[in-house]
Amino acid sequence: MAQQETDEQISVDDEGFVVDTEDCEAREAAHRERGTSRPITVVGNPVLHKECKDVTEFDDELARLIDDMFASQRTAEGVGLAANQIGVDLKVFVYDCPDDEGVRHVGAVCNPVLEELAPEDRVLDDSNEGCLSVPTAYASLARPDYAVVRGQDAKGNPVKVRGSGYFARCLQHETDHLYGYLYIDRLSKRDRKDALRQMAENTPRYEIVPND
Ligand SMILES: [Zn+2]
Repeated sequence: MAQQETDEQISVDDEGFVVDTEDCEAREAAHRERGTSRPITVVGNPVLHKECKDVTEFDDELARLIDDMFASQRTAEGVGLAANQIGVDLKVFVYDCPDDEGVRHVGAVCNPVLEELAPEDRVLDDSNEGCLSVPTAYASLARPDYAVVRGQDAKGNPVKVRGSGYFARCLQHETDHLYGYLYIDRLSKRDRKDALRQMAENTPRYEIVPND
């Protein structure tokens, strides 16, 4: 059940989770059309390898950043994008991602914190994972198939987002980014090396920020 509220307020379901499955096409298009697509930073760029700064100003500048992130995510055909992937040192990510039932979720989270799962809720899924900042590479990585992230929306309202399947993977992957971790940092040495080799051998289909 979804509780619909007025314009500027967030809608939450009866368990307090943000409703991010309604009007996805219109909301994503509105952000993307206001925004400007920017090139994507890649592994080795220092901005990807340190914890980002907390968002403290929920102003027009933040709204413009989120618009640019949606535009960039679409250009690069991503399902999630963290601010440091367009070179911005701030804890915010956006997503446009299907869950394990194929339901599309669209939203933005500032200052995300992943909730610890109870051991009985920790079911690992070892699907393939990729990252716009490690272009063209994929590797299998075991992660819990359910995730809850707490944070704030673009206006500073507290939000909690939950995801299953691929969307749970996305929430964990994007939160990792904002703390300076790439998914390849969670791989074995051998798999990490293989991912970097895939990246070196192929050409990304979108514009990247070259490393020095
Ligand atoms: Zn990524």
